[in-house]
Amino acid sequence: MKSIRGVLMNEACWNPLVKQWIIVTEHRSTRPWRQGKKQAMFKCPFCPSALELAYLEKWSIVSLLELSICLVEGSLLVKLLELDAYSVIEAHGTCRVVEETPEYKGDLCTLSLDRITKVIDLCRNEYIKLFSLSYVEYVDTLRDRGNEIGVLVMHLHSQIHALPLVSLRVKAELESIKEYYGVAGKSLLYSIVGCELKKLEKVIYENDYYVVIAPLYAMWPYEGHVYPKKHFTSIAEVISGALRYLTDALRIVTAMYTALLEAQELNKDASLS
Ligand SMILES: [Zn+2]
Repeated sequence: MKSIRGVLMNEACWNPLVKQWIIVTEHRSTRPWRQGKKQAMFKCPFCPSALELAYLEKWSIVSLLELSICLVEGSLLVKLLELDAYSVIEAHGTCRVVEETPEYKGDLCTLSLDRITKVIDLCRNEYIKLFSLSYVEYVDTLRDRGNEIGVLVMHLHSQIHALPLVSLRVKAELESIKEYYGVAGKSLLYSIVGCELKKLEKVIYENDYYVVIAPLYAMWPYEGHVYPKKHFTSIAEVISGALRYLTDALRIVTAMYTALLEAQELNKDASLS
């Protein structure tokens, strides 16, 4: 499939109605897919025998460049189209894949606290490095897991996207935090955590540095938020002592969701039998 400009490239298209850039990459349409005929032919690129990792004699935790990325590296603003309300630019940024273990199976809650703390520390270092790039506005670290969200590689891994733009939702959150600080003179997140801790008792878990809550305004079933109890502007500011507590909170949340969803599957199976 060709773009309207007849070329294959990584583009950010401006949606003037909602004032949002949409990143489009045509080569992603040819990526292998786990379902269907191609599934049987698919070889995990992250198992120790894989060619992709052959250059590493022995690895424990590794960060790799994502090859089928929808972004290109570069600081120069390249305009591809300007037509009245329309605008298309080259989508600059990069993406890393973080392999947490050479083992195929495992999860944040089944791998050791030490290992996952090292993974989070690696993600923090990548965040600092990527955020310093002149063309990067936002660094998003996420865990890839499950067929349900279209994950190609089932070997457990995380991804770090260094994006040339800030998403609408994050932008709205940042503006609200700034506005609230101007009016109330204190942190909005601190107030939210305070409401949950002191009054609503909807705290799922807490340790010395972090709290897991189901906020009053949760939109999704089982929605949970992990917040620091002390002020950290970003993961770059999280002190080394607190990193272990962040890992602890993330492992608890993962174990909670795994138990919850497995129990639901069991109940579904029981009701069908
Ligand atoms: Zn694998």
